[in-house]
Amino acid sequence: MNYAGRTVILLSSNDYLGLATHPEVVQAAVEATERYGTGSGASRLVSGTLPPHASLETALARFKGAEASLVFGAGYLVNVGVIPNLIGRGDLIIADRLCHASLIDGCRLSQADFRVFRHGDCAHLQALLRRRSGTRRTLIITEGLFSMDGDVAPLADLVGLAERYDAMLYVDDAHGTGIMGTTGRGTIEQFGLEGRIPFHMGTLSKALGSYGAYVVGSNDFVQYLLNTARSFIFTTALPPAMAAAASAAIAIVEREPERRDRLWANRQYLFKELRDRGFRLTPTVSPILPVLIGDAAKASAFADRLLAHGVYAPAIRPPTVPDGTSRIRFTVTAAHTTDQLDEALRAVTLAGREAGLL
Ligand SMILES: *Cc1c(COP(=O)(O)O)cnc(C)c1O
Repeated sequence: MNYAGRTVILLSSNDYLGLATHPEVVQAAVEATERYGTGSGASRLVSGTLPPHASLETALARFKGAEASLVFGAGYLVNVGVIPNLIGRGDLIIADRLCHASLIDGCRLSQADFRVFRHGDCAHLQALLRRRSGTRRTLIITEGLFSMDGDVAPLADLVGLAERYDAMLYVDDAHGTGIMGTTGRGTIEQFGLEGRIPFHMGTLSKALGSYGAYVVGSNDFVQYLLNTARSFIFTTALPPAMAAAASAAIAIVEREPERRDRLWANRQYLFKELRDRGFRLTPTVSPILPVLIGDAAKASAFADRLLAHGVYAPAIRPPTVPDGTSRIRFTVTAAHTTDQLDEALRAVTLAGREAGLL
């Protein structure tokens, strides 16, 4: 990519499959714009629902094996809109400690009591479930593939606990959608749990290369949200180009599994090379490859050295991640060539030495 007038290698994009620049995806956006205009003109329930929105919702429901889906303007809007419709004042939310800020904001809006369990720690979650007073309605919240650590939730155990303790489970699979599971349907597919998780959300803005987000579930669930989720009702519908682009991207995810193969081959390569050079990585199992630094200033210094050597990957610092866990969150995509990865690795090694990490 081009940064301040020079070419650098981008190692921080969530466009994991390179679909944001895929000719068919771009073409779908252009055609939808020519046909329907740039803006959707109104909110979904007024006159903003255009044919690309309806087609996308059909495509998402089919892709995810759900009865229905509802497309929102962004993942942030899904989380702040859906969570307060699942749970409210006097109820209880128990969330993984590393949940995304949009999930936390949804929890705040719900006014339910809020507890966190240690990241991925089902024993801790179970202890909190046991300690509940009375028969409070409870919502467990997790990401499927964690955005800043690149590891996955222990979904099978979470489903088991939710069933056993009669709690609801809300999974945010923003990063898993398109890349996890044998057919790219996401982290829930990866764990073979389709059918046991009644609803979940994901975004169109990461591997699908577009913008916006969705929730999938039963017809009743989607109808309920359509009439109650304030961040769905009181905001302008997604531009038709983005909806059309996302539909085109889903078709490519289904038709071109070789993109996922390429992504995972690149991921294995970069992971191994970073680890062999002595970088300290999180326990990642995905194309998100965070190098842990700890100190925020040190992470920024590493990012500066990376840029000087031609790699763009900014430091991720608090409050995005907990104190003392500042990092460079490298991500690799299907679009990287081996030459680019080799060049990036040379730069990362030099920068790592200069920043005193190696
Ligand atoms: C990116 C992200 C979101 C927000 O999605 P947007 O469409 O960018 O608003 C929500 N949850 C997680 C885990 C994310 O990574």
